[in-house]
Amino acid sequence: LPTVAIVGRPNVGKSTLVNRILGRREAVVEDIPGVTRDRISYEATWAGRRFMVQDTGGWEPDAKGLQQSVARQAQVAMNTADAIVVVVDATVGATSADEAVAKTLRRSKTPVILVANKVDNQKLEADAAELWSMGLGEPRMVSAAHGRGTGDLLDDILAVLPETPREGTGLTGGPRRVALVGKPNVGKSSLLNRLAGEERSVVHNVAGTTVDPVDSLVELGGKPWRFVDTAGLRRKVSNASGHEFYASLRTKGAIEAAEVAVMLIDASEPITEQDLRVISMVAEAGRALVIAYNKWDLVDEDRREMLEREIDREMVQVRWAQRVNISAQTGRAVQKLVPAMETALDSWDKRISTGRLNNWLKEVVAATPPPMRGGRLPRVLFATQASTRPPTFVLFTTGFLEAGYRRFLERKLREEFNFDGSPVRVNVRVRE
Ligand code: GDP
Repeated sequence: LPTVAIVGRPNVGKSTLVNRILGRREAVVEDIPGVTRDRISYEATWAGRRFMVQDTGGWEPDAKGLQQSVARQAQVAMNTADAIVVVVDATVGATSADEAVAKTLRRSKTPVILVANKVDNQKLEADAAELWSMGLGEPRMVSAAHGRGTGDLLDDILAVLPETPREGTGLTGGPRRVALVGKPNVGKSSLLNRLAGEERSVVHNVAGTTVDPVDSLVELGGKPWRFVDTAGLRRKVSNASGHEFYASLRTKGAIEAAEVAVMLIDASEPITEQDLRVISMVAEAGRALVIAYNKWDLVDEDRREMLEREIDREMVQVRWAQRVNISAQTGRAVQKLVPAMETALDSWDKRISTGRLNNWLKEVVAATPPPMRGGRLPRVLFATQASTRPPTFVLFTTGFLEAGYRRFLERKLREEFNFDGSPVRVNVRVRE
């Protein structure tokens, strides 16, 4: 994948910018001078394109001082990256260390993008404009902390990178990864065997390079799917493979390794705490979800009515999940699994353009404004989709939004853009 390197001296907000590009909300990393981080690369996506972000750490001054060390990092970036983003703190202006980097980068054949960071408001734009003097072209005005200008920056980065493959393709793409989860005896092995058998496909439990030996590669609907951590299932060594604690750790691992979880629930029995725990794991991990109610051959009218009531009551958190009623034993409706997984993954991958999103937001907020807080009406300024997998949105507001209103917006968002089968995250950023 093409790589963009982020360079700059300590405390200019490199890590915040990296997190912003990766679409991470929680981890606010601080540049702590004196703490060496190695160069770390992360995979990122923007507008459905994949690329690597290289966070050049190790910025503390060495014997020759900060300037030399920063300039050397820029040199490394020139040799290894396909584009370089230089971050400067607009509130401070260009320091001598920044000038040293600029001097190195002015000779660069690799495209260089200058970022004036911490431009949190319009007033600071004048300061930022002074950074033209660095001779690195137009300073892109950004507030990594608030998200201001980062979408445009990402567009600019993509524009200078060589071919960026589409999401879900290429080396690290490969078959979509599925976690088959559910409590013991719910029918996981039966389902996997049926899926593998029905399509008369080869199930490789290939030890070696491409497929992890604990995964199963199964061809379904003309495409390979990778069922993660299914070694024990296929052979069905035993269910005695442990305490619930280990079983649950394993489930968690499989969910995290997967893109979509197929959660089996025994439809012939009441929904249990254990079922709900696995469901929460999937939702928390932010994975696409298909709930398969298995053993449907054992479900009569009475049980069916009861089940629907249980679902209404217990499954509130995951109303968005795809649902299929199957029988692994008879094969009933098993063919509906693949379309359900595909729908869920499409939602999980979905990106809504900032334009569409904000047109929609304006209408919704005009029709139903947020409730007053402390005698003030919080204004919803704009929204942006920070990432996919799962779709994650950031709403910028002038004040706190009540949980009820946030849920309302999330529901409207789902109605408008259809994220069936995928969790959706909405984060609110309050700007002063
Ligand atoms: P696992 O522990 O989740 O892998 O569950 P298994 O696949 O081993 O299934 C446990 C038991 O449930 C076995 O006796 C299966 O034959 C049975 N079973 C699985 N699926 C169905 C189904 O759809 N209907 C019925 N009636 N029995 C099933």
